[in-house]
Amino acid sequence: MESNQQYKVIIIGGGLAGLSLAIQLAQENRSVLLIEKGAYPRHKVCGEYISLESWAYVQRLGVPLEAMNLPKIDKLKISSENGVVLKSDLDLGGFGISRYVLEDLLYKKCKELGVEVLTNTKYVSHLKERELFKIKTSRGVFEAEVLCASFGKYAPNDLYKPQKKTDNWVGVKYHIRFDHPSDEIVLHNFENGYCGMSKIEDGKSCLCYLVNAKELKKCGNDIKALEEKVLQQNTYLNTLFRKAEFLYKKPMVISNVSFEVKKPVHNGIFYLGDSAGTIAPLSGNGMSNAFRSAYLLNKSLNSYFKNEISLAACAQNYEKDWLIAFKSRISTGSMLQQFFCKKNLNAASIRILKYAKPIHKYIIRKTHGLPF
Ligand SMILES: Cc1cc2nc3c(=O)[nH]c(=O)nc-3n(C[C@H](O)[C@H](O)[C@H](O)COP(=O)(O)OP(=O)(O)OC[C@H]3O[C@@H](n4cnc5c(N)ncnc54)[C@H](O)[C@@H]3O)c2cc1C
Repeated sequence: MESNQQYKVIIIGGGLAGLSLAIQLAQENRSVLLIEKGAYPRHKVCGEYISLESWAYVQRLGVPLEAMNLPKIDKLKISSENGVVLKSDLDLGGFGISRYVLEDLLYKKCKELGVEVLTNTKYVSHLKERELFKIKTSRGVFEAEVLCASFGKYAPNDLYKPQKKTDNWVGVKYHIRFDHPSDEIVLHNFENGYCGMSKIEDGKSCLCYLVNAKELKKCGNDIKALEEKVLQQNTYLNTLFRKAEFLYKKPMVISNVSFEVKKPVHNGIFYLGDSAGTIAPLSGNGMSNAFRSAYLLNKSLNSYFKNEISLAACAQNYEKDWLIAFKSRISTGSMLQQFFCKKNLNAASIRILKYAKPIHKYIIRKTHGLPF
């Protein structure tokens, strides 16, 4: 493969994990190429609730969150299909911001810091020759000492993907206007899924649900039929779908979503964000996990680039840090999701949890980390 240009680091995928790693590396004056198959700004299917654990980190990346007057969320309300409700204070809580705004701000920061960002460019394949990765993309071949993969949920052909596939899920998102408290995130259960709603910027709300693909199939793969026949069995969702002002003509939909622990390092490539492991959105922590993995990887890479450790030791350090931070969090999230999506189990567990506050506080803590 004839290469066009050489970089210290090439990052595949410019979602939150890739963008934030690129910014950190550029803040240390490393040459970085970020390859992104899409363009900015763009909407993405996501609940858009970010745990406060990454507030300080995102500000250090250069996003002025404090000045943006974003909704801060410290209350959680969960409803079962038959109307049982659990209300809880969130110890740490979170804030609301759309992916449209957040990724665009991070992208602009990358550009400002001199990161080379190739948008509308697809990663195709790679090979390793004499300690250098050669990366083939839809816009040519590039070389780098270090290759990082932050392509999200769907692994390109020659990159690591787990053998065992868990259940298949479908994610659906709308932006809406609906009158509800800005300090509260609500999660409404329905058969084989759940729907979250919380405020984002400009008084808008993000309404996002995850449903097991088999439930959608039962409705002839028709989203509208699914919403009418399944989601609206929950009285809260019934009111919401009838009264909210929907701001898109069509919902945003993604399919083939699965949740498993993958690998942070494989064949000398560093994986971060959802590429290394996807946490169930029920925990509201996937975005913070993406940020934290970029933070941890940058820490190890920094020691390598300062010649304090070898690349092999850098990989070992990152793998160790990643497993401590995420392995049990991702499995707990997946287990919780299985429980939460069964409507009878859900109603029974909400009843129990209503009287067992320490247990639900413990569960929330198990899927979150401390600020970094
Ligand atoms: C329904 C749903 C609701 C969620 N709600 C929340 C929530 O409320 N709070 C929360 O914290 N988390 C939530 N999450 C999780 C969160 O969205 C993810 O964890 C987060 O987006 C992971 O970021 P990432 O950077 O790893 O991946 P992504 O954001 O998916 O970014 C990957 C990037 O790689 C690019 N890419 C892929 N393949 C290629 C290729 N071949 N070449 C070039 N580029 C490529 C893609 O275009 C994309 O931009 C939710 C997830 C789902 C499914």
